[in-house]
Amino acid sequence: MINIVLFGPPGSGKGTQAQHLIEKYNLKQISTGDLFRFNIKNDTELGKLAKSYIDKGHLVPDEVTTDMLTEEVKKPTETNGFIFDGYPRTANQTQALERIVKKELNDDISICLSLVVEDEILVQRLLKRGETSGRTDDSNEEIIRSRITEYYTKTAEVAELYKQQGKYVEVNGVGEIDEIAAKLCAEVDKIK
Ligand code: ADP
Repeated sequence: MINIVLFGPPGSGKGTQAQHLIEKYNLKQISTGDLFRFNIKNDTELGKLAKSYIDKGHLVPDEVTTDMLTEEVKKPTETNGFIFDGYPRTANQTQALERIVKKELNDDISICLSLVVEDEILVQRLLKRGETSGRTDDSNEEIIRSRITEYYTKTAEVAELYKQQGKYVEVNGVGEIDEIAAKLCAEVDKIK
């Protein structure tokens, strides 16, 4: 199996790049952001709880996020592996993911691919996405900046953990989508 953690700040292009990787390697994507939005749309209890954090640009607490992810990993599926998009976002989630992948898939995380994009470009991209996405967390600059701050205060430590394991690779997330995808694929091919 190839199990990829797709990493990077909000607006760095994780969702876009995940699509390329899914098709090329026949992987299943698990996006915690998409799962939360699905729950919000369906007005579930989990959705209501998540919305109260997401609309402020804060992270949803680890426990509920990890429970939701575990359910998704457990669903039977024919796949060559998984792309984790938007998870892990804390050190605690990083350790949880290692346990879940071991227990449910009898496997390990293969690589953490990190998309690097400078803050001002992120803000511009997210404001632009907000014009059409209908995402409340993309609707104003204050929430967007709060998400970027959450990324640096809570999420940066995830990179440290994967660095220690020798699984962390940075790729420049600014440029043509296809070019960036090619760079990511080259990194995956190295470990295959
Ligand atoms: P982006 O990467 O553009 O911020 P996502 O769709 O990945 O968007 O996530 C949207 C929001 O959902 C985040 O700002 C956060 O509030 C919540 N969220 C998603 N994944 C997690 C996670 N692993 N832990 C905690 N909160 C999360």
